[in-house]
Amino acid sequence: MENIRTKIEYTERIVNPLNHRNVLIDRTGVTGYTVNMKKLTFGIVVFLSFTGMIFGQSDTVQKSKKAEPKYICITFDDLPVVRVHDHFDRMVITDELLGALAEFNVKAGGFVIGNNIHDHFDLLEQWLKAGHTLGSHTYSHPDLNDIPVKLYIQDIEKGHEIIEPLLATYKQKNRYFRYPLLHQGDTFTKKDAVEKYLEGNKLINVPVSVDNDEYIYNLQFEKLFETVDSTKMAQLGYEYIEHMIAELEEAEGLAEKVLGRPINHVLLLHANQLNAFFLNDLLQAISDNGYDFISLDKALSDPIYTMEEAYVGHKGLSIIERLVKSDPDLMPAREGK
Ligand SMILES: [Zn+2]
Repeated sequence: MENIRTKIEYTERIVNPLNHRNVLIDRTGVTGYTVNMKKLTFGIVVFLSFTGMIFGQSDTVQKSKKAEPKYICITFDDLPVVRVHDHFDRMVITDELLGALAEFNVKAGGFVIGNNIHDHFDLLEQWLKAGHTLGSHTYSHPDLNDIPVKLYIQDIEKGHEIIEPLLATYKQKNRYFRYPLLHQGDTFTKKDAVEKYLEGNKLINVPVSVDNDEYIYNLQFEKLFETVDSTKMAQLGYEYIEHMIAELEEAEGLAEKVLGRPINHVLLLHANQLNAFFLNDLLQAISDNGYDFISLDKALSDPIYTMEEAYVGHKGLSIIERLVKSDPDLMPAREGK
């Protein structure tokens, strides 16, 4: 079977002789594709961002540069790579992700699924060597809604133990954890038990502030990838980035509404094929929207991440949504409940 590197190179050649990052330029109207106004405006901004040297910056870009800086941390779940198991293919995807992060000087956070490592610790080392922060994401990615809390905690423990030697070797200061599916407990007993376990073991929960449907775009992208249909892949990439910027704007608005101020955002992504192709474009679009990229530590220094929240339910929500949906009866003195 053709490996990913060959496919990427092949697709790059047929999409654009320069590189796959220019895919979006093709979708801004050069090809005559019919777009609505919002798409067109976004496309033009992306287009101008790539061609600023020639055309100068657009008003939109200049305006966003003058505004107060906004901050975001980029995080990836399901490391080393999700839904791809061949070591070589995983190496290629890791290279693409780390290359894009380096290009934009991003120090990201990554969350590892223990039983997804398959002895490919070298890939995790690449993240650490590049100065990114790693944390655990359980051993087998269980859903807290579905299993007893005791088994869930055992799974956290096992997942953490697998990566601990690596984190120690690379002298990583803190130990981070992210809940699979962002499910933090559909009953108070579960929620409370896991929170107490994390606290007792100095594992820092890393919520997200910008949830999104990136994983759905990845599933679609994987199918297109098999067909090597470059036009459809490019179109999907374009729609993916448009979706992510819309989600980011929505999270900005919600933070303003709930807290009355901007927050340090934490964006949820996955280490997947989709981002191996489009992370550069995504980071460029986020940057063009006035964002500076910050580390996990810095993002979590925003007080929103230590605020008491009491959402008990089956949904995987962002921290802002959790605050909105918190049960007033469980706040602030939850201990007595
Ligand atoms: Zn996950």
